[in-house]
Amino acid sequence: MKEMIVGIDLGTTNSELAVVREDVLQVVPVHGNVIMPSCVGLDLAGKILVGRSARNQMIASPEDTVLSVKRKMGETSKILMGGKEYSPEEISALILLELKKEGEKQLGQPIAKAVITVPAYFDDIRRKATQTAGRLAGLEVVRILNEPTAAAVAYGAGSRGQENLLVYDLGGGTFDVSVVQVEAGVVEVKSSHGDTRLGGDDFDQLLVDYAREEFRKMHHKELAPTPQNLRRLKDIMEKAKCRLSDEPYVRIREEFIDGRNHLELEIERYAYEQMILPLLEKTLECVHQSLSDARLNPGDLHKVMLVGGATRTPLVQNLLRDRLQTDPHFEIDPDLIVAMGAAIQGGVLGGEKQHSVLVDITPHTLSMVAVSDQYGYPRLVCVPILHRNTPLPAAKSEIFQTMVDNQKEVQVAAYQGEEPFPEDNRLIGDFMIENLSRAPAGNPITVHFALDLNGMLKVTAAEKNTGLSKSAVLDTHAAGVIDFEAARRNLKSLIREEEPEGTADRFSSKAESASEAPAERQELLIAAKDLRRRAEALLQKEVAAGDAEEIRKHLQESRQAIEERRWGRLQEINDTLSDLLFYLED
Ligand code: AMP
Repeated sequence: MKEMIVGIDLGTTNSELAVVREDVLQVVPVHGNVIMPSCVGLDLAGKILVGRSARNQMIASPEDTVLSVKRKMGETSKILMGGKEYSPEEISALILLELKKEGEKQLGQPIAKAVITVPAYFDDIRRKATQTAGRLAGLEVVRILNEPTAAAVAYGAGSRGQENLLVYDLGGGTFDVSVVQVEAGVVEVKSSHGDTRLGGDDFDQLLVDYAREEFRKMHHKELAPTPQNLRRLKDIMEKAKCRLSDEPYVRIREEFIDGRNHLELEIERYAYEQMILPLLEKTLECVHQSLSDARLNPGDLHKVMLVGGATRTPLVQNLLRDRLQTDPHFEIDPDLIVAMGAAIQGGVLGGEKQHSVLVDITPHTLSMVAVSDQYGYPRLVCVPILHRNTPLPAAKSEIFQTMVDNQKEVQVAAYQGEEPFPEDNRLIGDFMIENLSRAPAGNPITVHFALDLNGMLKVTAAEKNTGLSKSAVLDTHAAGVIDFEAARRNLKSLIREEEPEGTADRFSSKAESASEAPAERQELLIAAKDLRRRAEALLQKEVAAGDAEEIRKHLQESRQAIEERRWGRLQEINDTLSDLLFYLED
């Protein structure tokens, strides 16, 4: 008989709950959100608050609020909250209790057993303390699982023989890296390093310092460092930091930041990356240390996996790609992967079928072509905007610059492939953005790539200073053969000073045919996507095992038909799925 064993990622900053039921993996929302801050507090009436509500009262009542209790697990010192002393186990138990209570509400059944994750470096005392916290919350902790092991489990590691994996985990307040070896279902953490005081919060602090400096320059005085001002600034800069993961620059305009003065500034991603680079270099030292402790070279790694919200920072991914010469995997949500791995482990222990996480990803890197002078002469190169393995839908922008004064137009060309030069990749399509304003060389052009679940890529180019923009929708499945001539034309158009008349004919005919998918096919793909979305929503609910299996089979066939471009087959699957959903949704 199957029994439900949930997975819990009891994190320093945030905690998550997930479960496998009837072979379906589900991340369970708590208070309407899949991520719950690991924060406990007391309100004015002395009532316990857990999660976002506790986090929100942090500035007003710091003495009634506890954050980051995980750092204290296993210590004998007491934690003061609302004038009373608590052990770290008791505070952790309150977090677990909230997850249990909310989870039971969502799942409609009692939660009695759990797999809880801990960092690989946790010693026996800290593991026991975590177990005790679980017991205090009324949970039987059937397994304490290492976080990197949970990540490996979520990626279905070990199904292909012996594998060496590196798990790079950068959260809000801690950094861990582990080398994990998996063979015949046995997972072993070979080495583990980290810094328990390094994470995304430090990046926020660097941005806060920068903003305070800009404020001082603008108003010729300091921003009063009151807890309210600092908290507000930290929230603003954390949001800006997250946007910089997808956008090349961020403009901030906050009115009356201190009650009287405005804060106005712009940060470019490059400048931000220079700020955080020294911190990331520290993490890379740990990576190399971990590899050398496990007696491995970067070339021995089968997979590098990213865990923790701060790994969404593109520089993190680029540095790892560069230093380890492999593409890191981030297709499973880095905030949820540990809870998912724990849930899969719980599922296996509870008698569910072996399960791994399936996600839609882009299998190829999508790049914009640009001229680089790093080769000593102008050379066309592909600048990646969406890296392979990015989960779909995905959207990101990068900034490019004109090469000559008064450049009137720029050719925007999207390529698919992993090679550095366009002639070795596939052209998906190109277009010109024309009538740019008269500006010196270096006029910034923002290029935005948005890729949907059906592989349709919307490319938008915009002149940053005027907002002038142009878009095209390109079908990544319909990528033509390598078009070196088009690439050569790009180079010419990019380095020419004045554009001759008759530029309209510069649209490549190949790109046009690639970008204009027949209307029926578009409709078919949209219908397939909508059906898949409905089917997936249904799978999250209570569905009989036989129906769930049938839905999953059709989902798989729908994806396969799109991959193989069998439109007739896709139409058949759409019809069957539509009938099935009609019957089941009722
Ligand atoms: P975790 O401890 O894994 O929940 O990670 C939380 C950290 O990830 C915080 O510092 C967040 O600001 C950071 N974070 C979340 N989303 C992003 C993003 N899109 N880009 C950069 N950092 C992020």
